[in-house]
Amino acid sequence: MIQVGVNGYGTIGKRVADAVAAQPDMKLIGVAKTRPNFEAEAAVRKGYPLYAAIPDRADQFRDAGIDLAGEVEDMVMTADVVVDTTPSGIGADNCDLYERYDTPAILQGGEDADVADVSFNARANYDLARDDVDVARVVSCNTTGLSRLLAPLVEAYGVEKARVTLVRRGGDPGQTSRGPINDILPDPVTVPSHHGPDVNTIIPDVDIDTLGVKVPATLMHLHSVNVTLEAEPSAAEVRELLGAESRLFLVPEETGIDGTGKLKEFAMDTGRPRGDLWENCIWEDSISMEGDDLYLFQSIHQESDVIPENIDAIRALLDWEDRETSMRITDETLGVGL
Ligand code: NAD
Repeated sequence: MIQVGVNGYGTIGKRVADAVAAQPDMKLIGVAKTRPNFEAEAAVRKGYPLYAAIPDRADQFRDAGIDLAGEVEDMVMTADVVVDTTPSGIGADNCDLYERYDTPAILQGGEDADVADVSFNARANYDLARDDVDVARVVSCNTTGLSRLLAPLVEAYGVEKARVTLVRRGGDPGQTSRGPINDILPDPVTVPSHHGPDVNTIIPDVDIDTLGVKVPATLMHLHSVNVTLEAEPSAAEVRELLGAESRLFLVPEETGIDGTGKLKEFAMDTGRPRGDLWENCIWEDSISMEGDDLYLFQSIHQESDVIPENIDAIRALLDWEDRETSMRITDETLGVGL
């Protein structure tokens, strides 16, 4: 059993913790939190051992009546691997701690690529993380979604050029500090956005330009995708190729799902935990070919598409399973693949 600790228990951390607890070959040894808020209470109710991420604040947990299993160093010492799901920049600071205890670590997409030995996406470059790596970075939600889409296209047809406009949610549902509230922002206003270069940390040779637009929405991102292929398959052939990928969900027209609101409703109706959509949601009818140009729309659930990737990153980093086996176990245990 792989002993896994999760440092940082927010949007991504709580989902990673639940996913780890569901794996047959992993044991969640604990989660580290900074504050005794509602998420700390929920973790305790689930029976997850709770560690103080900031030792000076341990008293706050005791005052709130929450029992601690120890301090974050105790968790790091015991773990075979730590998944760091702290806010952007803090993961980089935490690397000294992981190095001190010789504990491999998985960082998230908010960290700079050069903080980690390798940037990771299970479908595109699983094997790179198996090779003597101490720190891997699971790339951001948008980069994960683009890498999953581009990897099979590169393999099947070759990609001459990808151009993607990312319509980005302003914040997560719980992020009351985020906006815009009544506006549409070029974000960033400079071109390209950081997403294209980030895709190149996963698929180095693909030529890709990305533009970002921020909108007053919280549910999901939406990508408007144009990929110039090195071949001219029919739209039906591309649909078949993408439909065969377990982490790409082709949204059929007959479902009547016409936007991110209904996608989330669909996820909740089908009993997905927290209404999560781990798959890229590609509108099947949007998949079109004009000569060698592929066009499509896909939506990315920012809070959850990186969760299966974190689970696979754990197995890759410890060289525990090959890619196909790891992705299969992860997909089966979580219920990935609609
Ligand atoms: P979050 O703010 O929801 O959660 C982070 C948690 O870490 C919070 O509970 C916070 O209290 C805690 N924390 C703060 N400082 C800490 C410390 N020193 N030690 C331990 N815990 C600490 O953030 P998030 O959205 O889960 O993002 C985490 C990482 O995942 C970031 O790198 C982010 O870029 C990346 N990411 C986020 C999303 C998303 O849409 N939310 C998607 C993909 C990747």
